[in-house]
Amino acid sequence: MRNSFLPFSKPVISEDGIQSVVETLRSGWITTGPKTGAFESKFCEYTGAAHSVALSSATAGMHLLFKALDIGPGDEVVTPSMTWVSTVNLIVLAGATPVFADIDKDTLMVTPEAIERCITTKTKLVVPVHFAGAPADMQPIRQMAVKNGLFLAEDAAHAMGTVYKSEKIGSKGTTIFSFHPIKNMTTGEGGMFCTDDLDLIERIKRLKFHGLGVDAYDRDTQGRSPQAEVLEPGYKYNMTDIAAALGLSQLERIDAFNEKRRKLAMLYRDLLEGVDEVIPLSDPVYNFKHAWHLFIIRLDIDRAGMTRDEFMHELKLRNIGTGLHFRAVHQQKYYQETMNIKPDVLPNTEWNSDRICSLPLFPSMTEEDVRDVVDAIKDVLNE
Ligand SMILES: *Cc1c(COP(=O)(O)O)cnc(C)c1O
Repeated sequence: MRNSFLPFSKPVISEDGIQSVVETLRSGWITTGPKTGAFESKFCEYTGAAHSVALSSATAGMHLLFKALDIGPGDEVVTPSMTWVSTVNLIVLAGATPVFADIDKDTLMVTPEAIERCITTKTKLVVPVHFAGAPADMQPIRQMAVKNGLFLAEDAAHAMGTVYKSEKIGSKGTTIFSFHPIKNMTTGEGGMFCTDDLDLIERIKRLKFHGLGVDAYDRDTQGRSPQAEVLEPGYKYNMTDIAAALGLSQLERIDAFNEKRRKLAMLYRDLLEGVDEVIPLSDPVYNFKHAWHLFIIRLDIDRAGMTRDEFMHELKLRNIGTGLHFRAVHQQKYYQETMNIKPDVLPNTEWNSDRICSLPLFPSMTEEDVRDVVDAIKDVLNE
């Protein structure tokens, strides 16, 4: 057994990154300013996005979108229940109604067919999730959104560097990325709102900073009136230059990070072959490039004779950390009590919600670490 604990995830911060943050701290300008501007431009270059705005989180980006689209009572938003709780919380907080689309059982991607079944005359927005670092099937999803006059916003929290067919995620439509420390690149906390819609980006820029047309840095550098005008009530979701300095350093390394993740994931696949209680995810059938945000397995609970939670606990006793992405949102206490979704409505979501487990995967992990995880899994399962 390992004698030190292997966490499920760990950010990789370089000395250069630390130095860049320190320089920003010493520069006299630490909130939204030149570093944030540079980070936004480099992010557009990397993803191919037409416009981007750096924010305090991905959740902030989704909140701003809801405001820009005026989502409220009477509106329905379609998203999978197999997602992080943030989107669904925002739908409910806006007074709108979440409608959950089921996922593919083996890729965890929300399917175009499942989304289509959820569409009503009240549907306003669809939020597909690119799960674990592979892309959702965007072409049919886009066609359906156009046909039904719906707005589409891609949750790309797992998809930094993901390619769908020949397009990089972020290069088309409206996409929101997260830089929380467990994601493929981090700014401590942060997010990026990307879109090819010029009117939308102007609105997001305004809404992210009190509804003023300009931020403090614009006023300082462009000699604008120090007392800017509120054009509409807005929020306070701007990214700091301290965070952007780290983001710039991480962005330079994202391809190397993802390549290392891919190598480790391939080793997991090899070593887990033949462990019958462990069911890996399948790759989508369309052409794509994986960002390997997560390495997810499903436990065959009948064969293993234990629950997924027991399995995770046993791994922890063997010094292996794991993650859970995700417990279905509709099975969380509040949503169980308020929505009461019947058992046969989201079969693939529920099947996976009881069985999924994310194994440790981060760029500074070694092949030895991967072997330790697989040895511990075999030990737990008495193989
Ligand atoms: C992390 C995550 C988010 C939220 O990102 P924040 O930056 O923490 O707000 C949203 N959706 C998914 C699928 C995520 O994994």
